Amino acid sequence: MKRIAVDMDGVLADVYKQFIAYHEKDTGVRLEIEQLKGLPEFKAFPHGHRHANTRGFFRTVPVVPGSREVLEQLNQQYEIFIVSAAMEFPSSLGDKREWLNEHFPFIHWRQIAFCGSKEIVKADIMIDDHLKNLDKFEGDTFLFSQPHNSGLQTRHRRVDTWEEIAELLLT
Ligand SMILES: [Mg+2]
Repeated sequence: MKRIAVDMDGVLADVYKQFIAYHEKDTGVRLEIEQLKGLPEFKAFPHGHRHANTRGFFRTVPVVPGSREVLEQLNQQYEIFIVSAAMEFPSSLGDKREWLNEHFPFIHWRQIAFCGSKEIVKADIMIDDHLKNLDKFEGDTFLFSQPHNSGLQTRHRRVDTWEEIAELLLT
């Protein structure tokens, strides 16, 4: 059975929606996705580190459309691991675990790997929105489109939606 390493933020969890909501609550300014394209996340969201360090931020992130349905099917055909570099925001660990339990209840805790660096990950396929994770990975790589990677030309297979992932990976 092939193993897939699936990222959380920007792949399962729609962190842009959450950052935009927190930014608006803080500043009264509503940022639009269009104006954030091509900007690194913490350039796009100058208060992003503080917001991401706020307990509850990762607990209430909206789910990326289609991810639950497709991942549940992939979970029948592949060995799935949820891999999140959660150590960057240690207060997020509990939130992330609860969030996964709520939205992806079919994922067993043994399938969850919270880590500092994804360099240690060994799998056949990695789905991630950050090049820094995909570039060092030895296997098939899927770049999940997010505003920060918009327009980047890479060797990784770009996917815009979970429906696309389903077409490529489900038999
Ligand atoms: Mg990510």
